[in-house]
Amino acid sequence: MSIDLVTRKAWGARAPRGAYSRLTSTRGVKVHYTGGRIDPRMLDDHSRCVAAVQAIQDHHQFGNGWIDTGYSALTCWHRKVFVARGPHVVPAANGAGLNSGHYAVCALAGNSGLVEPTDDLLLGILDAIEWLRAEGGAGREVKGHRDGYSTDCPGKPLYAWVKAGAPRPGIVPPPASPPSNAPSWPGRLLEFPPITRGSDVMQWQRQMRDAHGFELAADGAYGQRSRDVCKTFQRRADLDDDGIVGRLTWRAAFADQDET
Ligand SMILES: [Zn+2]
Ligand SMILES: [Zn+2]
Repeated sequence: MSIDLVTRKAWGARAPRGAYSRLTSTRGVKVHYTGGRIDPRMLDDHSRCVAAVQAIQDHHQFGNGWIDTGYSALTCWHRKVFVARGPHVVPAANGAGLNSGHYAVCALAGNSGLVEPTDDLLLGILDAIEWLRAEGGAGREVKGHRDGYSTDCPGKPLYAWVKAGAPRPGIVPPPASPPSNAPSWPGRLLEFPPITRGSDVMQWQRQMRDAHGFELAADGAYGQRSRDVCKTFQRRADLDDDGIVGRLTWRAAFADQDET
């Protein structure tokens, strides 16, 4: 899907009240939110998005005294990207001294009402970022307004998304290897004779007793009885029954735990 740009003319932008400062490129983009309450009816009514974008321009021009909306672009719940200052223009929303480093993209998300980003909201932000990269020389960084500036913006859910690397929704990340409770092989052979002693022996004995039903004292001393248990276990597990707990025998002992 190509970017769904809403031109300044289309959203009824007022002209800037002064000359923009130009820039050639930025390190990246900072993500903002509107904060406050966003009426959930906005989800089904894009005209509310347009009105919100206009209200932000009013506030920035006449409340903050800026020449224009402080953002480079705004994005809504319908995956539309509103052109604000646009590419190659210094934004005003990142905070004094921080504006030439990053473009500013604001999502119409609040901290009450509409708070949790939808896929379309996130895709709109990504569309805006890609547009600023292609048209405005934005670098790879994606940060939040609160990076380097004392603010809650862009709110908890959006900031978590930014911190996760602004992943594209709908792309399932490769599964992390399942958490394993199995202790790793201690890296030495448990054998008899002579008696092998240690906490690794005790761990293996407990596993033999508790998980595999052997009658075995977990005394941390690998002796005759441990060796016999080991051989029986190895035969059951189709392993070479040498009575020595090496890597394969250890793994087999804890294998069930790998699968939980
Ligand atoms: Zn902000
Ligand atoms: Zn909308």
